[in-house]
Amino acid sequence: MAQTAESIGANVFQFFTRNPRGGAAKPIDKADVAAFLKYAEEKGIGPILAHAPYTLNAAGAEPRVREFAEEVMVDDLKRLELTPGAMYNFHPGSHVGQGTEKGIELIAGHLNRVVSQVGKVSTTILLETMAGKGSEVGRSFEEIRAIIDAFEGQVKPSNNPNDQTILGVCLDTCHVWDGGYDIVNDLDGVLSAFDKIIGLDRLKAIHINDSMNVFEAHKDRHEKIGKGKIGLEAFGRIVNHPKLRDLPFYLETPCDLQGYKEEIALLKGLRK
Ligand code: FE
Ligand code: FE
Ligand code: ZN
Repeated sequence: MAQTAESIGANVFQFFTRNPRGGAAKPIDKADVAAFLKYAEEKGIGPILAHAPYTLNAAGAEPRVREFAEEVMVDDLKRLELTPGAMYNFHPGSHVGQGTEKGIELIAGHLNRVVSQVGKVSTTILLETMAGKGSEVGRSFEEIRAIIDAFEGQVKPSNNPNDQTILGVCLDTCHVWDGGYDIVNDLDGVLSAFDKIIGLDRLKAIHINDSMNVFEAHKDRHEKIGKGKIGLEAFGRIVNHPKLRDLPFYLETPCDLQGYKEEIALLKGLRK
């Protein structure tokens, strides 16, 4: 993966920890991990971002769904201890009719149990901002804040061996646009709201995607950079914004490898 990233001009990359629709992860090959760490160091690649499977729903109504979410996240975080400095992104969850408040409580409880099972977690866990499709939790900055507060309120020193902040946020440009944050006409306003409600110190990564849909559509259909409703000019402001420009940006656009190579060059060309 690191060699592929390097070959298209990327210095970060995101990957699925296992089949995005679920299933077991491939066994870890220690020699491969060592080769990766050496290569990443040499080429200046990182931080890498692991993405949890889409099927993971910590806010599910069925106990089996929540148990699956827990098993997967514990396994993923244990594996990520082998690549220090990596981050782990997940979709907070869908409350499937139980209500947002219940969803938030389930997600915080899930994180609490996961962290106490893993033990030392050196990986920063990122809550992804969602488009608000269906019953998704995490559409608003307030919901993200509520998950962080509920989690941190539950985690006692006895079951949290971590002395650092382990919860951060990944802002997905397509999702926040679809979710009702106008990053095209008022990027400063959106970022100051983020800062007031969540705190910009929690913002650790950007998923940089254009959107097929109009503002506040709650659809979540990613488009190639500059080909959607967000548009290239807005991306110019995003990649140069003083509060964002030093963060890692991860593309999740509908592209093949050559397409990503071109988008990376396009985005680099926008940098001032
Ligand atoms: Fe995602
Ligand atoms: Fe995303
Ligand atoms: Zn999405």
